[in-house]
Amino acid sequence: MHASATAPERCDLAVIGGGIIGVAVARELARSYPARKVCLLEREQRLAAHQSSHNSGVVHAGLYYAPGSLKARLCREGADALYAYCEEKGVPHRRCGKLVAAVSERELPALAEIERRAAANGVPGLRRLQGAQIARYEPHLRAIAALHSPQSGIADFAAVTASLAADLRALGGAIATSCAVVGLRERPRGLLIAHERGELLARYAICCAGAWADRVAALAGGDPDPRIVPFRGSYLALEPRAAERVRALIYPVPDPRLPFLGVHLTRHIDGRVLLGPSALPAASRGRCRGEQQVASDLWQSLTWPGSWRMARRFWRVGAGEVALAVSTRAFARAASRYLPELSAGDLRPAFAGLRAQAVSRSGALLDDFAISFSPRALHVRNAPSPGATAALAIARHIVGLAARALEW
Ligand SMILES: Cc1cc2nc3c(=O)[nH]c(=O)nc-3n(C[C@H](O)[C@H](O)[C@H](O)COP(=O)(O)OP(=O)(O)OC[C@H]3O[C@@H](n4cnc5c(N)ncnc54)[C@H](O)[C@@H]3O)c2cc1C
Repeated sequence: MHASATAPERCDLAVIGGGIIGVAVARELARSYPARKVCLLEREQRLAAHQSSHNSGVVHAGLYYAPGSLKARLCREGADALYAYCEEKGVPHRRCGKLVAAVSERELPALAEIERRAAANGVPGLRRLQGAQIARYEPHLRAIAALHSPQSGIADFAAVTASLAADLRALGGAIATSCAVVGLRERPRGLLIAHERGELLARYAICCAGAWADRVAALAGGDPDPRIVPFRGSYLALEPRAAERVRALIYPVPDPRLPFLGVHLTRHIDGRVLLGPSALPAASRGRCRGEQQVASDLWQSLTWPGSWRMARRFWRVGAGEVALAVSTRAFARAASRYLPELSAGDLRPAFAGLRAQAVSRSGALLDDFAISFSPRALHVRNAPSPGATAALAIARHIVGLAARALEW
């Protein structure tokens, strides 16, 4: 979505980053403070150019997340808010339900843990299924047990972002694209934001820069820990004949050591069935960038002690991910554990997204959403999945947090 107004020289509240979270935050600011001037700055030519349009498109119901975490609360609130918003605005979505499938006895304890977490998180309607009950939902699925979540669904997150941006404009907010922020300096009466096309003096800012969250925080003198390590998530599309074997959403039981949900099958809004994503550490944070950017991104990842500690801890998982990245057969093998009729010939390349995953100095992959502050600014430091589902709730949460902490 293009939105090329130039940035004003002054505003009250600035938002940096035009993904689904930044746009939801800017809209929330404009709704909550109608007398204040809100401006959003995005480095790309269009909004939602990165994670927000290159993901699984799944509205998560909140099954997996540690009870009491921000993810657990904001996913539940966000999914309800998102469905209501899509219904009100006519944004494409479908509450199609999903199955989490255990294929062996070994996976049953992890399935039981998901069931326990879902109950603690208040996920409505979750049921454990066996045998013929599973076949009623997904006749081609092979599993010894499954969880059915009727509240899970799909949405077009790029269309959600476009609709939120239209709300923002209608509320008087400004959106400037092709406007990368390159400097943040505190001034006596505000925050001086240097960007590609000039300067903007804002009283306060909220930074939602996705894969560049650590760099934008560093511009404001923020803590370099955690660092973003990008993970490439590629998807393959099922040929129409094979796609007929998948009705809605089929997920494996995820590896409990990782904050990723495993290679799953997703019937998208446009009818395509996609298999993915992989999760391989990537050289660059953005798509279609020059060699210089790739080298600089790679250097940033390699010079972060957390990257090496993470690699030592997860080398075995990483080896499997390398296989997925280079081989359609490996992808097909991963999915044929639960969809036995699937073969490599049923798959063709679709697209890839880059996950912005925060990694601490100690090598831990941050599981929960993370937020930090610098003078006059709030920074969203980690907003991986279910960030798109939770965007409206994240926006409400951080606008409240910023208003209290920054005393605006
Ligand atoms: C492969 C994959 C699958 C996923 N699946 C799901 C799913 O099924 N369901 C779900 O809920 N979530 C999913 N997610 C997570 C979800 O996509 C993200 O949580 C969400 O999109 C994050 O939104 P964002 O606005 O923070 O990030 P982004 O969409 O990445 O937006 C950040 C924006 O900041 C801009 N920016 C960066 N630096 C600057 C700067 N200096 N100046 C100006 N602008 C800047 C960038 O250009 C970008 O547009 C998935 C993510 C991936 C990658």
